[in-house]
Amino acid sequence: MQLVCDAGEGLNSSYVSTGQAGYIPCITLGVGMPGFMDIAIEEARSAAARGEVPVGAVIVRDGAVVAAAGNRTLELKDPTAHAEMLAIRAAAATLGTERLIGCDLYVSLEPCAMCAGAISFARLRRLYYGAADEKGGAVEHNIRFFASSGCHHAPDVYSGIGESEAGRLLKEFFAGRR
Ligand code: ZN
Repeated sequence: MQLVCDAGEGLNSSYVSTGQAGYIPCITLGVGMPGFMDIAIEEARSAAARGEVPVGAVIVRDGAVVAAAGNRTLELKDPTAHAEMLAIRAAAATLGTERLIGCDLYVSLEPCAMCAGAISFARLRRLYYGAADEKGGAVEHNIRFFASSGCHHAPDVYSGIGESEAGRLLKEFFAGRR
């Protein structure tokens, strides 16, 4: 995969968020992990602005954004409304299928057990995540869901992308709550 480190400019000019969990007019941003992770981090920032835990997720297929979402557990009064869950639901609705074959997920934080399960059921191809989550993460910490015997589909996992910014948002958020 070719890495494009300054996808930010195209992102500002062509990427429009409606602020809803399921927006998405398939805009091609070009291939590049930092670019798509930038969008996930932007979703995390928006979540923080709503008082939600700052986590954002983006689903990409063929170099285009299919869905993007931030945490909305407070707003929706839904403990399952993690960024990844909302992005998976929106992508499945948009693509008209429950199997997101060939789709990749970018998320600012290591997914929890629930989201790891959903990623597996959705048959996502690759998982890119930013900050590690020693407490609640279920990919490289704790139950390591994708490596467990109950997991029947595991994505390729790439961690540490955009880690410092994703982690900084979380730290600021929780520091501000004390
Ligand atoms: Zn989760």
